[in-house]
Amino acid sequence: MRYRCAVMAPELSSPRIFLLPEVVVNQIAAGEVVERPASVVKELLENALDAGARSVRVDLEEGGVKLVRVTDDGCGMGREDLELAFASHATSKLRGVDDLEHIASLGFRGEALASIGSVARCRIFSRQPGDDVGWQVECEGGRVSEVREAGGAFGTVVEVRDLFFNTPARRRFLKRERTELGRALDWLQRLSLAHEGVAVVGTHGAKRVYDVEADMDLRARIRRTFDAELADALVPVAAEDGDTRLEGYVAPPRFARRDTGRQMWFLNGRFLRDKVLIRCLRDAYHGFLDGPLHPVAFLSLAMDPARVDVNVHPTKSEVRFRDDRRLFGFLRNALAEAVRQTDAATPGGRLLSSLERRGEWRPPAGSAPRLPDPGSSRDPLVVREVAGKPLELPPIEDAPARAPGQGVDPWEARDELAGPYVVVDKTYIARATPDGLEVVDQHALHERVTFEELRRELSEQRLEVQRYLVPELVEVDRADVALASDHTELLAGIGIDVAVFGPTTLAVHGLPARLPRPDAQALVEGALAALRERGEAPTLADLLEDVLHRTACRSSVMAGDELGESEIRALLERASAIEHDQTCPHGRPTRVRFTLADLERAFHRR
Ligand code: ADP
Ligand code: MG
Repeated sequence: MRYRCAVMAPELSSPRIFLLPEVVVNQIAAGEVVERPASVVKELLENALDAGARSVRVDLEEGGVKLVRVTDDGCGMGREDLELAFASHATSKLRGVDDLEHIASLGFRGEALASIGSVARCRIFSRQPGDDVGWQVECEGGRVSEVREAGGAFGTVVEVRDLFFNTPARRRFLKRERTELGRALDWLQRLSLAHEGVAVVGTHGAKRVYDVEADMDLRARIRRTFDAELADALVPVAAEDGDTRLEGYVAPPRFARRDTGRQMWFLNGRFLRDKVLIRCLRDAYHGFLDGPLHPVAFLSLAMDPARVDVNVHPTKSEVRFRDDRRLFGFLRNALAEAVRQTDAATPGGRLLSSLERRGEWRPPAGSAPRLPDPGSSRDPLVVREVAGKPLELPPIEDAPARAPGQGVDPWEARDELAGPYVVVDKTYIARATPDGLEVVDQHALHERVTFEELRRELSEQRLEVQRYLVPELVEVDRADVALASDHTELLAGIGIDVAVFGPTTLAVHGLPARLPRPDAQALVEGALAALRERGEAPTLADLLEDVLHRTACRSSVMAGDELGESEIRALLERASAIEHDQTCPHGRPTRVRFTLADLERAFHRR
């Protein structure tokens, strides 16, 4: 991380810990830092990282209540440092008020060790690289011992035993061991994900519960921490705006969850739960994610510490950006770009898994559901059917022989979009793909195609408008008439040609030609609502996007339309030409695919 460890460099001469002057103390957003073992783990780990450690070990007992011990190989502390380590507002990371303007370290308030020391039995051993001896100090319920000479490896060991031994009231708030351990491990994982280059080991009792090696990159760390299916599906993000740098990964929409547990933002190595960043990411998934689910992403922001105020919240998990408008525009665009590149397909195997979870389907005994199965290489299915006709049993054909090694990679194989197509309920188109079976929702797909084509026309400045001989009249309220008349040019820019007709009436003279069944009322209302919501002058692309999100369904209706074979093919071809065709603009899937492996599972063949 570019801005890490700038303050506490090992070459600083000792003693380096100072008591903060009172004026600084009063300006610090102080708060309770020790709530549970997880807070101890977080604070001690952050200290180790601030000390430039390359290798950190965290040992826990009884969920961390009995023991949290963090061992690092960082810059260590000298004798005078240890004398001050447990004092309130004693820190090496901040000197004066001005330093609050550019905090590059994870800690800076000098409160953590003091708070921990007041509610536990603590011991610090530390030895600075190159020194012949190390030093040790104890603190029990706030009583600090003499500093004594002691032997040990370079770096620091901080041991925290019997948390809340002297405050039984707080001890009663602790949850079961498993819960406390889970929260402690959350911090271990978050900070490990945020700090490539640092090896982290976690143990609980005699068991090793977590480890990442120093040379593992973020994707490898995610694979180790969560699972391989997620890690493999991630799409990288890397963008720069001035000296602000965004890096990390976004996951395909299908990984979205009800909780935000797998949505991580790191700012200069600090884990954040910042509402604004969460909102940015949500915006980026707009149109790809349905309902109240939270996208999964691991994102790291590096910027000049002077451009962000981290001193606004006691847990430091919320911050204030100094130039937020520009930052959010930059983030939203970079993220949306990456989200569009994720594989948003809905694998049929996933549907099977969710049926399984609901108890409506059981996999054959002994089969381990793993999806999709990249190892499956079979001949293409042969389905004989003509669109719209009742389904008959397909004649059996000899599959063509395949040369050895000529496997078909699911999803990747060349798809000729060939029929025959089977249309069910005038809505769902089923057809064979090189590796299985695909069912398309023609309505949803058409909606997405229309949406993307309109966007492309707009960006290439060739948006076609269908003009009406007789304008269509739309009733709105007075305020909206005024709003429309203030923004006629903007609206015309996205193909909505309106003029004021009466105190509560607008005349629509033209609409985008792309829309097969433009609903003038819905489009105008959508556009006005978008204008109201955006407030400031939106860009044409943003406005179009908002309007389409609101009205795409009605204006590009196709469900129920009977499509002939050539129309189906044309729709599939148009879809294959656009960048993102796996969900409709509202985030519902446009297609569901069953690989051969899925079908085999469904029929208990494996
Ligand atoms: P802060 O991190 O806000 O400065 P802490 O109470 O967490 O406050 O730590 C106080 C000081 O102790 C730090 O500023 C740092 O100088 C020193 N320190 C704590 N842990 C370590 C460590 N693992 N290695 C080196 N120095 C440490
Ligand atoms: Mg600290």
